[in-house]
Amino acid sequence: MFIESFKVESPNVKYTENEIHSVYSYETTELVHEDRKGTYQWIVKPKTVKYEFKTDIHVPKLGVMLVGWGGNNGSTLTAGVIANREGISWATKDKVQQANYFGSLTQASSIRVGSFNGEEIYAPFKSLLPMVNPDDIVFGGWDISDMNLADAMARARVLDIDLQKQLRPYMESMLPLPGIYDPDFIAANQGARANNVIKGTKKEQVQQIIKDIREFKEQNKVDKVVVLWTANTERYSNVAVVDKNEAEISPSTLYAIACVLENVPFINGSPQNTFVPGLIDLAIRRNCLIGGDDFKSGQTKMKSVLVDFLVGAGIKPTSIVSYNHLGNNDGMNLSAPQTFRSKEISKSNVVDDMVSSNGILYEPGEHPDHVVVIKYVPYVADSKRAMDEYTSEIFLGGKNTIVMHNTCEDSLLAAPIILDLVLLAELSTRIQLKSEAEGKFHSFHPVATILSYLSKAPLVPPGTPVVNALSKQRAMLENILRACVGLAPENNMILEYK
Ligand code: NAD
Repeated sequence: MFIESFKVESPNVKYTENEIHSVYSYETTELVHEDRKGTYQWIVKPKTVKYEFKTDIHVPKLGVMLVGWGGNNGSTLTAGVIANREGISWATKDKVQQANYFGSLTQASSIRVGSFNGEEIYAPFKSLLPMVNPDDIVFGGWDISDMNLADAMARARVLDIDLQKQLRPYMESMLPLPGIYDPDFIAANQGARANNVIKGTKKEQVQQIIKDIREFKEQNKVDKVVVLWTANTERYSNVAVVDKNEAEISPSTLYAIACVLENVPFINGSPQNTFVPGLIDLAIRRNCLIGGDDFKSGQTKMKSVLVDFLVGAGIKPTSIVSYNHLGNNDGMNLSAPQTFRSKEISKSNVVDDMVSSNGILYEPGEHPDHVVVIKYVPYVADSKRAMDEYTSEIFLGGKNTIVMHNTCEDSLLAAPIILDLVLLAELSTRIQLKSEAEGKFHSFHPVATILSYLSKAPLVPPGTPVVNALSKQRAMLENILRACVGLAPENNMILEYK
């Protein structure tokens, strides 16, 4: 059964005019490796740590500024939110289609709240805590191409034509602000669309971005802004200094610096190393949320499910070969070796945590062969093809080969993920916590691991484990939000019926 909303009544939860306050027992373990009577042994001690969470329940009016607003993802997301907000429906060859938010974890997935009369009861994920309604987001942003959003939507060739016609009047007047362009960081083939760029030194460019954010906030009367990079994949950069106007500072890093200086959350949806060490330090010092990297939308998402399943089943993946072809502007940009390399790196570490979790299957340091190929095929446009072959060793030396072929509009996968990233980033800035050992409430660590479900290569604070397995990432997110309303983590034990 499905219910729309619920309220938790518990001595551990208090609802006030401004916040939800919860007291939460975190059941965890403490490990020690000790000399016990001459032999070293691992000792595991269950322990309970008391935490308190408080969540500000005032949902702000949210502005989202996209870097690469006029790209396939930027225009598709903007179109999709308008279509939902305006309740637009359109004729396809199959049926009359209603706008929806399918593919969004926050808007279209559910959580289990308990059992009632022998039935499992589920509620929308978004009913856990007060969140911004995506229909109310004000969009804006930058693009190095000056095309208005209606034409950008047509250029993307993603949405049905009848839908595009209805959306055009809403999007024609949406114009991207000039962007920071450095031809050295993206493929040379992008030069043709770069007609809308900020001039000046790197320092002046950062100042312009800050000015843009302030003006956007003012003009649209929004309470908060989140900035997200959905522009072209850049090549990797080396470390350099902004004040010296050094060539190695990428445009994405400049946008991120501006955001951190303005205390505006910045999320990186592409694979490049935007978050160089100096920038991470700055974000930590200023306690400004940063998150990324690279949307986990298609092939990698499948990989982080399938390999988790295989390794979890005691089956040993030995060769994972992923082939992609796509024909959108992202594909054209990735046809340059330097930008492809960023994607290759981002896609390559995704099975590491699953492999290292099983020392029965793998020797220390052993890895499956893992190869990623991406080719640009203009005709297929945004409809990306992903073909994967997983070969595993099974019982008594047997081999099991699974082949998958996925065809899907890339931007229709990415747009709801962008939405979740900005909604969850905003929500997480309203949550404070403290453990019993800590005197004061504090926000989550500014490097937002809470967003890792949505990231292909999750950015984590220095010295923190990276989790790629999708079910663990989802459980982490859901269980933290449950803790904020005093609910236990979902443990799937269903002891009531045992
Ligand atoms: P796109 O090429 O259609 O859009 C990118 C836009 O960014 C273009 O309009 C371009 O003009 C603009 N741009 C480039 N450099 C800029 C800069 N410095 N400042 C401002 N604007 C700039 O690409 P897309 O399909 O929308 O994808 C966007 C990014 O998301 C890519 O890096 C892609 O690799 C990444 N990504 C996409 C998916 C997916 O499923 N679609 C998944 C993971 C990552």
